[in-house]
Amino acid sequence: MDIGFIGLGNMGFPMARRLIEAGHRLVVFDTRKEVVDRLVARGAIAASSPKDVADQVETVMASLPSLQASLDVATGANGVIEGTRVKRFIDLSTVGSAMAAKIHGLLAKRDIVQIDCPVSGGVGGAEKGTLAVMVSGPKAEFELLKPALAVIGKVFFIGEKPGAAQTMKLANNFLSATAIVATSEAVVMGVKAGLDPAVMIDVINAGSGMNTASRDKFPRSVLPRTFDFGFATGLMVKDVRLALEEMKQLGLSMEVADAVGRLWEIVISAEGAESDFTAAIKPIEQKAGVVVGGKGGSAGK
Ligand code: NAD
Repeated sequence: MDIGFIGLGNMGFPMARRLIEAGHRLVVFDTRKEVVDRLVARGAIAASSPKDVADQVETVMASLPSLQASLDVATGANGVIEGTRVKRFIDLSTVGSAMAAKIHGLLAKRDIVQIDCPVSGGVGGAEKGTLAVMVSGPKAEFELLKPALAVIGKVFFIGEKPGAAQTMKLANNFLSATAIVATSEAVVMGVKAGLDPAVMIDVINAGSGMNTASRDKFPRSVLPRTFDFGFATGLMVKDVRLALEEMKQLGLSMEVADAVGRLWEIVISAEGAESDFTAAIKPIEQKAGVVVGGKGGSAGK
């Protein structure tokens, strides 16, 4: 299949690479030339703008870091909307259901179908092709795209309503964001009381407290204090804010979500948007006056 791919970052690059390796012909664009060059070296064709991508292929995918970037790339000047060949725009980014519906409406005026396709599973999942791929849009489009999307992960049809897959993704990421800060508080509590954090993580992972933070993030990036899991705090906070907004739009007030939202606002002001999201433990440690992990602190097997 001929596929356009815009946004070759932590997630976009490995997804695009897998699509090339699966035999698809990729036309790629990113504002950073070096990542475009790296994919061209692997067989992709470079484009000069989102419009240029959409002039060359019917199917355009995007993996972008902000709502504004998705809106600009899809519907702005020199955007996908101005392309002469494009028929469908598949947004792999997390933008929330309101922005997805807005882009859907603007593209529909030019007979371009917008398909929501947020993904979950991190950079490791993107590299291995094991992401959870959540799709909402017309069922016939879903069937057409399913074989290509299966290259990046397990594909789920969420519904036809524009934005439905975004709601699904926000529910997932609210849980992921909660797991990190809740696990950080649990481990900091133990360390304050004199427990070994590596032993704690082993016990949690053998017990009923096990979650994605204890299973993946703590052993790999928190206990060794490398804080390099591959997802920026700014992106996690974007998703938490979007989840809170989504709940508000639905007339809901959620106690845990409010507390998690407040904690992540503390993390972004203390650690900065560019920090890795596993650094969320640092303000919790500082408040408690302890440091978790470090030398000898990696989880035993
Ligand atoms: P990233 O910042 O690593 O990559 C974004 C890429 O988009 C960069 O290469 C950047 O140069 C490019 N870009 C920005 N503006 C552009 C524009 N106007 N035109 C073309 N290219 C542009 O971000 P990421 O971590 O890859 O995340 C991308 C999306 O996927 C986000 O919505 C994020 O929430 C979501 N996501 C990320 C992860 C993760 O673990 N990193 C997991 C699931 C979902």
